[in-house]
Amino acid sequence: MPELPEVEITARRLDRALAGARVESALAPGMVTMKTYQPPLSALAERPVTAVRRIGKMPVVEFGDLALLVHLMSAGRLQLYDKRASLRDKASRLLIRLDDGRELRLREFGTRQRAWAKLLASEEVPQDETVATLGPEAWPPPSLEQLAAAVRQPRHLHPLLRDQRVIAGIGRSWVDEILWTARLSPFAKGTDLTEADVARLREACDERLGGAIAHYEEVIGDTVPDKLPMPLQVHRRPGTPCPRCGTTIEAVHYKDYVMCYCPEEQAGGRVYKDRRLSRLLK
Ligand SMILES: [Zn+2]
Repeated sequence: MPELPEVEITARRLDRALAGARVESALAPGMVTMKTYQPPLSALAERPVTAVRRIGKMPVVEFGDLALLVHLMSAGRLQLYDKRASLRDKASRLLIRLDDGRELRLREFGTRQRAWAKLLASEEVPQDETVATLGPEAWPPPSLEQLAAAVRQPRHLHPLLRDQRVIAGIGRSWVDEILWTARLSPFAKGTDLTEADVARLREACDERLGGAIAHYEEVIGDTVPDKLPMPLQVHRRPGTPCPRCGTTIEAVHYKDYVMCYCPEEQAGGRVYKDRRLSRLLK
């Protein structure tokens, strides 16, 4: 799933590529993709694309005083193509045809239709419930006071940091990286963090998310590939040595994702019980 750095580089590349482009027509082959009906998609015809930016993990495409707010969910991608999609392309959810022949396409891998978009008056974007309920942006990182106020909750850090209402932009990949960089246990509670812990967490958000964006800026050309070369160090790497201390990275498996951590530096030398393993052993 694209998280803050991946959506940021996508928005930057699209913003650059779409400067000066004008919409010819727009349509939504995804039957449940558009979550708004007024204004209709046809209102985009003949409008220029004025900017592409990001709010949390959501790309926003601006067309003057109208804005398309997109939620990619787990498998959506917003990409620019030189040619129009075949109408048989089952992954197409939303097609914005440009008058120079190119097409901005919201595609979704897999059979489930979960990605969505809303066409809103630009001034209404901040009040949309998905935007208004977001916590502070994870990058650039919030102030120490803002971050402390956001995370001081009696919940485990791993789900807490992935909760967009707490802090916006972090998902299942970068949460592992940020907690490892900050040397914090995924099972520590927000209320247990000391001031020094919050400071390390803030530093880790800046270093890892900002570092990923800088990495993408360097290695990605004009077009963002389907699979980004994510500069990960512990996520999806259980069984490999910790890049800092050499301890074997351990994992806890959940239904939809895997949590990776360094037992030595993040858990006081303990290996957490892996629910998948304990289920197998029953
Ligand atoms: Zn380590």
